Amino acid sequence: MLKPETLNAFENFCEEAKKQGFEPKIESGWRSFERQLLIWNEKALGKRKILDEMGKLVNRDELSDLECMKAILLWSALPGTSRHEWGTDIDVIDAAAVPEGYEAELSLEESFGVFGKFHKWLDSQIESGNSFGFRRVFLPGIGRVQQEPWHLSYTPEAKKIEENFTPEHLTERLEKSDILLLPKILENLDWILKEHVVCYFE
Ligand SMILES: [Zn+2]
Repeated sequence: MLKPETLNAFENFCEEAKKQGFEPKIESGWRSFERQLLIWNEKALGKRKILDEMGKLVNRDELSDLECMKAILLWSALPGTSRHEWGTDIDVIDAAAVPEGYEAELSLEESFGVFGKFHKWLDSQIESGNSFGFRRVFLPGIGRVQQEPWHLSYTPEAKKIEENFTPEHLTERLEKSDILLLPKILENLDWILKEHVVCYFE
């Protein structure tokens, strides 16, 4: 379900990476609005883990709806704003570095640990403009989403989607869905878009 342009660029990226002994693998690619909605609603119900900014488990029952919404947004996108819905964004690991029997979990520990060499190489590729159109999006110091070095965005196509993104269209989609915490979301939509969405646009 990724855009053919994204896949094509990823193949070229892989070819270059292989020369260095890496084996980039997409851990998470396209995700539907419905899938993101399910994740959101399960978190809002306390059926799925909610983490604070340190990655520590928090208890849903101890959070107001507003606090709950803000906590979910640290690690999960509001449905309709996830870049994984675009077909341009991917979560990537280095399959060549995965130890036998190990299940990648996409964490910072991994990014600086087992996949550290791969990310260092990726840094230098991005810096020198040799990353085949891919860039990192969730970087430290930008917005409120936690740092995600593994998340890559295929810029040429993502840019087009960013340009056509409107709050009105998003509101319409959310109102038509059965999303939980909707009143809090709509009350804070400008803030959410500013801190969690458009600050990551190029
Ligand atoms: Zn991602």
